[in-house]
Amino acid sequence: MSGLGDELTPLIGAKSAAPLAGSLGIETVGDLLRHYPRRYAERGQLTDIAGLEIGEHVTVLARIVDATRRQMRSRKGHILEIRITDGTRELTCAFFNKTRYLATRLRPGVSGLFAGKVTAYRNRLQLAHPEFELFDNDAADAGSAVDEFVAEIIPVYPAAEGLPSWTIDRCVQQVLTGADLGEDPLPARIRARHGLVELATALHDIHRPPDWEALDRARHRLKWDEALAVQLVFAERRASAVARTGPSCPPMAGGLLDSFDDRLPFTLTEGQRSLGKAIAADLATEHPMNRLLQGEVGSGKTVVALRAMLQAVDAGKQAAMLAPTEVLAAQHARSLRELLGDLGNAGELGASEQATKVTLVTGSLPAKQRKQALLEAASGEAGIVVGTHALIQDHVSFADLGLVVVDEQHRFGVEQRDALRNRAADLTSPHVLVMTATPIPRTVAMTVYGDLEVSVLDELPAGRSPISTAVVPAAEKPAWLERAWQRVREEVAAGNQAYIVCPRIGDEPAADSGGKRPPIAVLELAEQLAADQLAGLRIGTLHGKMPPEDKDHTMRRFAAGSLDVLVATTVVEVGVDVPSATVMLIADADRFGVSQLHQLRGRVGRGSVPGLCLLVTEAVEGTKARQRLDAVASTTDGFRLSRLDLELRKEGDILGAAQSGNRSGLKLLSLLRDEEIIAEAREHAQVIVEADPSLGEHLGLARLVTDLVGPERAEFLEKT
Ligand code: ADP
Ligand code: MG
Repeated sequence: MSGLGDELTPLIGAKSAAPLAGSLGIETVGDLLRHYPRRYAERGQLTDIAGLEIGEHVTVLARIVDATRRQMRSRKGHILEIRITDGTRELTCAFFNKTRYLATRLRPGVSGLFAGKVTAYRNRLQLAHPEFELFDNDAADAGSAVDEFVAEIIPVYPAAEGLPSWTIDRCVQQVLTGADLGEDPLPARIRARHGLVELATALHDIHRPPDWEALDRARHRLKWDEALAVQLVFAERRASAVARTGPSCPPMAGGLLDSFDDRLPFTLTEGQRSLGKAIAADLATEHPMNRLLQGEVGSGKTVVALRAMLQAVDAGKQAAMLAPTEVLAAQHARSLRELLGDLGNAGELGASEQATKVTLVTGSLPAKQRKQALLEAASGEAGIVVGTHALIQDHVSFADLGLVVVDEQHRFGVEQRDALRNRAADLTSPHVLVMTATPIPRTVAMTVYGDLEVSVLDELPAGRSPISTAVVPAAEKPAWLERAWQRVREEVAAGNQAYIVCPRIGDEPAADSGGKRPPIAVLELAEQLAADQLAGLRIGTLHGKMPPEDKDHTMRRFAAGSLDVLVATTVVEVGVDVPSATVMLIADADRFGVSQLHQLRGRVGRGSVPGLCLLVTEAVEGTKARQRLDAVASTTDGFRLSRLDLELRKEGDILGAAQSGNRSGLKLLSLLRDEEIIAEAREHAQVIVEADPSLGEHLGLARLVTDLVGPERAEFLEKT
């Protein structure tokens, strides 16, 4: 009798155990039982040979069409050549050893599993030196365990050279008969509630399914294990965050926030109001808030953040706002000051009595100004400090930091959040509000940001102009590209402005792109446009390698309308707010990701004129790249888009490159299809961890977490 953690060798012998460990890293009973079949072959249903790829190591279920043994001309000995079929197409297999014996077994009409590497020889698919396992009783020799293939559903394992699927199958069989898996780690309560089969049954049935329904039940149960393991990790994280002390910031009647609300030039949307309430309640408690706010581009996140910051200031604390770049930080400081008016001018003439001060701290400030800014942060004179992430990393000191707002940053990972937590004395942490306009599907949020409370702002303020998006296939329809430039000229003629976004700066020779033309570059395109398509227009350029003051200068000129066209890299991706910019043309749009394109186009349509986004590409119709662009053009609903994106991508990209090379981990759970399981597992995890934070009463679950998530894996998830 053995458990999941036991070594395999005593059970299956060193001869079988060694290749498993060597090729697949499988060492314990658990490793082997969680090495699930990649797919299942059904008796009588031959594998589709057309779908095989050259170079792949495959296992196919096929029938022998004919077999010929003949003398070889070039060297001594015989060759046995067989052709196997899936009913439509054929594969040839050649054998050079023991051909006389093999010929007695590999006879026409016999079916079996054949495993080997797919190669092409004279335009025909071949399996070189295949290994095989035949189904026919009378073809079997004494050493072959024929009864293993009486099953209707035949597991096909991710195999390795020299370790064919059926060898793995045999080891699994031995272990399944000998193993005692002990108590089921999933509490009976959860199993009963969700109709989950026991672990032993699930592990048996996923390897040797008696029928397809049993297989479904097995997979469902094992997905639960994975979902729960991940959610337990996050529940533990949330619990330890909540256990810290936070700076309590109760709302103050008649304070700065109230004055600000009184003079807001617009009414808050329903979403802004209810979210504001939830945040206000969080800030008032003694525990740090950890909230992720997802809001469509233009949904008005800044006001929500500012209102939270004012509540902190009312409570005598400071608030910090972090942006991903210095340009954005500067712009935030400007727009916060603008929104606050005389409520943000403390120390200046004409400031309101209640006023606070908004201070910008960035690395590129002149030394004297920077020193002054640092002083304001440290003394508490600045109620609101705006900067980049360096604010946290460089240990800028604050008099009393109550709230940190992180804007437009979906990669503000656990590391940064930890840095934040740890900078405060002992166990106190400031409240944290992370805001992003890059919507991610709910399941991804629950899995990747599992330790944050996620809220959504999905309604745009009234009167917002729609954005229409069109794909411009430059190679297939050059006339459309001409028309695109014409549209840019028309917008400018109508008094509006345009962004043109390129994937490359062009300040250095493009890296070798394998004979293909290098991506379109800002500097080159700007020059070309000035001389040709957009001659006569006032064109500026903006990219990340410009000195900060140049960037700022260009941005100001564009915002003031002294430039008609801004040719830029993705530095304009987030936060930039120029209402009279109405058209954006993205060159080589296929070079950008779906969410990036969505972000980018959010820069237009911010005023009263409808926005237009043109995705110029040479990607050919029907390719993945083109499908992604079509998806972006098909909807402006960021959440729908993020789902489309997830469908187009291999999910593995999200849950982990690490997954493939990792023998344990999440194998069955799909972020796309298993939303319900993930959501339910999250609730259970919360309840379990609340009652038993260390999982001391749930040793089986603790073990599940280590087996399926593992310490390094838990970190990986968080860092994505
Ligand atoms: P984002 O969520 O993309 O950061 P912003 O906060 O920059 O959006 O808001 C975009 C614009 O909408 C700003 O000019 C802001 O002042 C304005 N705005 C925000 N909330 C409202 C509202 N409730 N009604 C009208 N305009 C609003
Ligand atoms: Mg914003």
